[in-house]
Amino acid sequence: MKQADLKPCALCNKGVLADRNIAFYRIRVTNFVADMGAINRQVGLEMLVGNPTIANVMGPDDDIAIPFSEGDCLVCMTCATTKHIGELIEIQP
Ligand SMILES: [Zn+2]
Repeated sequence: MKQADLKPCALCNKGVLADRNIAFYRIRVTNFVADMGAINRQVGLEMLVGNPTIANVMGPDDDIAIPFSEGDCLVCMTCATTKHIGELIEIQP
C-alpha cells in the first residue's frame, strides 16, 4: 500500500499508524439485500420436493442476497482491538 492510499481510521478518524501502531486493517464492508424472489423459488422447490438438501441440488443455485453497496475502509489497530465490529456498519462505503 502506498502512502497516497492511506486514509484515516474509519472509526476514530486518526491516522491508521498513529499512537505507535505498526499495523492496521483494510476492511471491505458490503451491505446485502435479500432477493425475495430467489428465496421464494427455493422454498417452493423445497416444499415440492420435501427435502431441502435435494431441492438445493436440483435448484438453480441462485444468489439469495444481492450486494447493495460496497466499499473499503481502514481501521487502526487500537480501534480494531477495542471497538465493536457493529460500529463498522455505520460506515458508508
Ligand atoms: Zn482508529
